[in-house]
Amino acid sequence: MQSTRGFGSLGRLVLPFLLIVCTLVAGLGWLGWRVLEQDRALERQRIVERLGTGADLAATALAGRLAELDDRLVLVDAAPAAQRASRASAIVGPRGDGVLILRFGRDRVDAYPSSGLLYYPLAPGSPPPSPNRFTRGESLEYREQDYVGAAAFYRVQARSEDPAVRAGALVRLARTLRKANRPDDALAVYGQLEQMGPVPLDDVPADLIARHARCVLFEEARRPGPLRSDAAALHAGLEQGRWRLTEGAFRFFLDEAHRWLGAGPDDEPAARGAEAVAECASALWRDWQGGQLNGDRATGRRSAWFQGVPLLLVWRSTGDSLVALVATPLFLDRQWFSALQPTLDRLNLQIALTDVEGHPVFRAPSGPAGFRIVRSSADTGLPWALHVATANLAADLAQLSARRRFVLAGFGLTAALIAIAAYVTARAVARELEVARLQSDFVSAVSHEFRTPLATLRQLSELLADGRVQNEERRNQYYEDLRHESERLHRLVENLLDFGRMEAGRQEYRFDEIDAYALARRVAEEFERGIAGRGCRIEVNAPDDATGVAVRADPEALARALWNLLDNAVKYSPDARTVSVDARRDGNRFLVSVRDEGLGISADEQRRIFDKFVRGASAVTAGIKGTGLGLAMVQHIVAAHGGDVRVTSDTGKGSTFTIVLPVRDQESGIRDQEPRVRDRTETTRPEPRGR
Ligand code: ADP
Repeated sequence: MQSTRGFGSLGRLVLPFLLIVCTLVAGLGWLGWRVLEQDRALERQRIVERLGTGADLAATALAGRLAELDDRLVLVDAAPAAQRASRASAIVGPRGDGVLILRFGRDRVDAYPSSGLLYYPLAPGSPPPSPNRFTRGESLEYREQDYVGAAAFYRVQARSEDPAVRAGALVRLARTLRKANRPDDALAVYGQLEQMGPVPLDDVPADLIARHARCVLFEEARRPGPLRSDAAALHAGLEQGRWRLTEGAFRFFLDEAHRWLGAGPDDEPAARGAEAVAECASALWRDWQGGQLNGDRATGRRSAWFQGVPLLLVWRSTGDSLVALVATPLFLDRQWFSALQPTLDRLNLQIALTDVEGHPVFRAPSGPAGFRIVRSSADTGLPWALHVATANLAADLAQLSARRRFVLAGFGLTAALIAIAAYVTARAVARELEVARLQSDFVSAVSHEFRTPLATLRQLSELLADGRVQNEERRNQYYEDLRHESERLHRLVENLLDFGRMEAGRQEYRFDEIDAYALARRVAEEFERGIAGRGCRIEVNAPDDATGVAVRADPEALARALWNLLDNAVKYSPDARTVSVDARRDGNRFLVSVRDEGLGISADEQRRIFDKFVRGASAVTAGIKGTGLGLAMVQHIVAAHGGDVRVTSDTGKGSTFTIVLPVRDQESGIRDQEPRVRDRTETTRPEPRGR
């Protein structure tokens, strides 16, 4: 075969083709990389914009809350004393979550809610009862140590209408009873005193004095059970801001409670928050008293730390009064951020606040760079720096990588499509080039095939026409040669026309039932006659009883197929003397083989020689003429008969081509037919065989 001849043009195409494909794929890769980069930048930009939107929303909401707070503090300050509590509670909310409103007057401190302040910067300022009221009793008690007399005196005073006198009398009575070694009576009197509630006695509420004194008595009497429960009640009251105390008194009673309960200072956040608020109130009072909250500091807001707790402080002072809000992060969380939270959740954001030095005030800032932004206090006018970050980083990252995967998949798909398209195009181009090459080979082969008989015809007819051939025997030989060459030409043209029809699927077959043995014998004989004088014999081998194998066939077409095989066998066996035709039946198949001892066909060529225009390399090298159509026609014809054509060959040893046909039912009548005589005719068109 001449397959390598086509590689010249194909080889020239391969390089530019590969170059174009590689450039395309490289360009696509570069484009993909750029798109990925841009997409990533765009997504980052989108995240930053989302963070910015969240920060703006939060800053606006917080600024609005603070402005609203300012207005409400003005209202609290301006309200008549009786209405202040209700106006303050409108700010503080029903639960008073970690927030306190303070109002300072010249000699007065009010807290809303009143239980929210553990201790006050200013003593309540109760007028002490007239000292003269107990002079007599104290004289009996201390100087004369007449505890019975003193107790009787105090009992009388304890019936006074004035609660302050009554409370003073009960304290003294209980004390005298303790001295008289009557602890149970003393306990009972303290019980009465406790019933009086927070009547101030030297700036300390009477019920607190009573409770403390009961604890002291239980301690002295070594009664741990009652001591523990009273001390716990004392501690709870102090922590709840039940009594209005100065810081000194508060700390004294708290230390006492801790001592009895065997516990240290509270570390609970709520307790720490309350202590921080109280300390902040005292600091604010000192500043106000010191005249530091005047002028441009008359109103303000800031974030300040007390007892390790970050507090929001908003104040507004006039010459005579100051009203302030002190809030823990709990207040911000519950009252301000809870309203903002749904919006933040929707935007997948979380917020944190830090003071001007960067210490976390409300939640700690988190999130890697690119997924958080900061708005400074100067930007927002808030007393904190505002940090906004992605709440669910994994979700954002997953979205980023999902987009990346999507883009990559798109480009991968496009690259795969380009590769497939390139492969398909390359295959199609290679095929077309091969077909073009084969066709050009075919044209030159056909020209050669025509040229030889035409030249012979011309020469002989010139000789005969000129009357130069006198010898009659020779003249007859020339006529015979003329007939032979014109038949050859005719066969060539017929072959080409038939093949054209077969290719176009227009070849019509006229099927009849024929005797296969007879057909094989007759074709062999006719062929042998045709090549008479070329020194080659056609030997037909068939079983002795070989008669009457019926096949359904177009005798003319089948004869042509067999003829082509015989023609090839002789053509490609230049030195052979014999070509064998072996016919035999094998079950329901009829096999007719044409065997030669010629050039043979290499194994890799055996598969392709049935394709149109394909010629074997050894045939071309040996200079044997041919068109590459003979075997293609054989295949067409045999396929139309429902049969098969096979080849076995050894290079240099010869080839055997075998036509295999299905056998018809034996019982039907079989006639030895002349190929051109048809009595029963069927017409069919074979499906063109793909190759
Ligand atoms: P052509 O004979 O015109 O070249 P064919 O289709 O009949 O075309 O045969 C195709 C090729 O198969 C031949 O070119 C030849 O190489 C090879 N071939 C066919 N028959 C034989 C044979 N009997 N011996 C050796 N080669 C053969």
